[in-house]
Amino acid sequence: MTTNPALLDFQIVPNASPMPEAERLAAFENLGFGTLFTDHMAVVHWHVDKGWHSPEVSARKPFQIDPAASVLHYAQEIFEGMKAYKGADGRITLFRPEENARRFNKSAERMAMPDVPEELFLKAVEELVKIDAKWVPEGEGSLYLRPFMFASEAFLGVRPSREYIFCVIASPVGPYFKGGSKPVTLWVSEHYTRAAPGGTGAAKCGGNYAASLLAQKEAASRGCDQVVFLDAAEHKWIEELGGMNVFFVMDDNTVVTPPLSGTILPGITRASIIKLANENGLKVVERPYSFDEWMADARSGKLREAFACGTAAVVAAIGTVRHPGGEFVIGNAGTGIETEKLRNQLTGIQRGSVADVNGWVKEVTRV
Ligand SMILES: *Cc1c(COP(=O)(O)O)cnc(C)c1O
Repeated sequence: MTTNPALLDFQIVPNASPMPEAERLAAFENLGFGTLFTDHMAVVHWHVDKGWHSPEVSARKPFQIDPAASVLHYAQEIFEGMKAYKGADGRITLFRPEENARRFNKSAERMAMPDVPEELFLKAVEELVKIDAKWVPEGEGSLYLRPFMFASEAFLGVRPSREYIFCVIASPVGPYFKGGSKPVTLWVSEHYTRAAPGGTGAAKCGGNYAASLLAQKEAASRGCDQVVFLDAAEHKWIEELGGMNVFFVMDDNTVVTPPLSGTILPGITRASIIKLANENGLKVVERPYSFDEWMADARSGKLREAFACGTAAVVAAIGTVRHPGGEFVIGNAGTGIETEKLRNQLTGIQRGSVADVNGWVKEVTRV
């Protein structure tokens, strides 16, 4: 399907009172995750009769939505997470953005929402990055981009909405975990699951996250950083974290990661790590891996390293695993050699210091 060119013609209305530069630079000194936002947002509207219309980039501001808007009642909402990076040469780039556009539409399909043409998705992201280019931090930080779409029709019946808003906002970020790149401690939830066969586990929808919060609270109360979920049918197989995929590095140079069975989110970081690990001479095997196997392999030393990965936290080594029956450590509970190598390769490609042989990096602008 080709997109009507007028649809890509965003009306650009610069923010009349952007954050003063001194204030922005002061905020950059202490970046956390998702608390600081840029001056602008991109918004496009959809109506069942008109399709997508009125693309605009303008000052970031609250939406006015009706209290009966169906997203507020039935959670018809999806999102993406991606980052813009600033290289030492002033190039501002995105990492595999077409993959986010494609996945967004897979999520849209699962949630009975309209398709956002890939060009429209990418144009919205790029226009926002261009107008807020000075918000992309140097060095370790990046500009986290959050495209999302929600049902905005005022209607309390249960059916797909007839109106939607697609929006992109941006947030300069530092490390996702407070401890920086320290290994994380995971909690294995015995009771709560994230996704069931036939459910929405493979879609990036807000409801999946709402459903994970109680398990996350349980993890925090046990002194853990994140939850690792087991499958819903047998409570046996490792699936993923609330927002990150997992990898296990064995002593025979194989790397195991759970297969995309429909209950796991197909991470773009996951796909990139599989490619890089294979290029590094490791053998990546996508197969079911059970919690019992995990515990036994960690104890025997067969399992050398484990890590979680996703756009927000990139690659996080898993040091300790706690569960209702006890706990075990992986390797020496530090960051393993292959984990460190993959993290450096990936972040190097993203920041332009490692050759991008796979053509993953897309330049948006230069500053
Ligand atoms: C977003 C997400 C991931 C990671 O996907 P990336 O494309 O690598 O950022 C993994 N699991 C879940 C549940 C997610 O929502």
